[in-house]
Amino acid sequence: MRSAPLASRVLVLNSGSSSLKYQLLDMRDSTRLATGLVERIGEQTSRLKHTCLVSGRTHELNGPIADHDAALKAAGEELVKDGLGLDSPELAAIGHRVVHGGMFFTEPTLVDDAVLTEIERLIPIAPLHNPANLTGIRTAQALRPDLPQVAVFDTAFHTTMPESASRYAIDVKIADRHRVRRYGFHGTSHAYVSRATAQLLGKAPSEVNVIVLHLGNGASASAVRGGRCVDTSMGLTPLEGLVMGTRSGDLDPAVIFHLQRVGGMSMDEIDTLLNKGSGLFGLCGDNDMREIRRRIDEGDEEAQLAFDIYIHRLKKYIGAYYAVLGRVDAVAFTAGVGENASPVREAALSGLEELGLVVDSELNAVRGDGPRLISPEHARVAVAVVPTDEELEIATQTYALVGKNSRVNS
Ligand code: ADP
Repeated sequence: MRSAPLASRVLVLNSGSSSLKYQLLDMRDSTRLATGLVERIGEQTSRLKHTCLVSGRTHELNGPIADHDAALKAAGEELVKDGLGLDSPELAAIGHRVVHGGMFFTEPTLVDDAVLTEIERLIPIAPLHNPANLTGIRTAQALRPDLPQVAVFDTAFHTTMPESASRYAIDVKIADRHRVRRYGFHGTSHAYVSRATAQLLGKAPSEVNVIVLHLGNGASASAVRGGRCVDTSMGLTPLEGLVMGTRSGDLDPAVIFHLQRVGGMSMDEIDTLLNKGSGLFGLCGDNDMREIRRRIDEGDEEAQLAFDIYIHRLKKYIGAYYAVLGRVDAVAFTAGVGENASPVREAALSGLEELGLVVDSELNAVRGDGPRLISPEHARVAVAVVPTDEELEIATQTYALVGKNSRVNS
């Protein structure tokens, strides 16, 4: 008996506390059918921006959108106008980005009540993200209760880290009681980019060691050995590691005690300072690398110092992960800054020729859309620019899981 063809569309939802990003993909050929963003949910000035990539139709809607339920319904109405309604039998599943999966979720997971409870249990260590992610899942369940909902975790790719990398050197009993350890984030991006880098080199992921530098507004580095993450720069929360747009990254923890005891700041004020008022923004008043480069070109010393601090930290992580991996086949730059800012790539690797790391200035200056090499031919270590695609990765993982389950059940 022939089984019915598997529906081929996947809706990817990325729910923030006041936003909802969505993409509809056709997984037969991994094409994007529609994308959209609802911002400022719950305010009077909400906005929906929708683009259908099949017809080219775009639509913007301004006005109050009360909650995530209304946001998803508004997105659904736009999709209906494009002939891509969410009630279509073509829709195979909904894939959700979930930021924190703790130690429990090591792979994409079909959502049921027990999974929702576990994601909820992780709220104390992901207070900003997991509640919003849960709202997105519940909203989608209410809209299509018959459809598989899949949670894809930012932390999952990093669960292969050895204890030596994932534990902080604090009292083990206290750490375990409060689930304090290094989890890492941006996992779907690190997974996608490390695989795409292997592909660019014409090798299997199991054959290559890659340092992935995800440099967006948030930024993280990872050391990936043979397709498995062995270290990453973010920790219990996305605050640790590299200098970011508005986050400090690494810092002596005593800075916090000092700001509280001597500076008279409250814990909430320090939290806001380190997450929202630090990084490039704290150093020079701008967190957009384009603006910082423009100011540097005009001779602005504050912007130059912010850039230098950003590069110094990045270079330290590249060196550290080189040592962790022992042998490095490729360094891959990705996300907004990594994909676009050639001066960042050049500066981060300058002086590392002895490690086999060389950037070809001409190749580095060429702008392009796809994965590409920017190291000279025959370089010992490949240096690559690999555009990340977290939505495609979530859709791919979701579709693979749903396909596997339907094969098991048929
Ligand atoms: P996130 O997803 O963390 O918000 P992105 O990966 O979209 O971040 O990256 C956003 C950042 O990328 C911007 O803040 C800006 O600093 C940087 N960026 C985007 N385009 C360019 C460019 N052409 N040149 C330099 N930096 C850029």
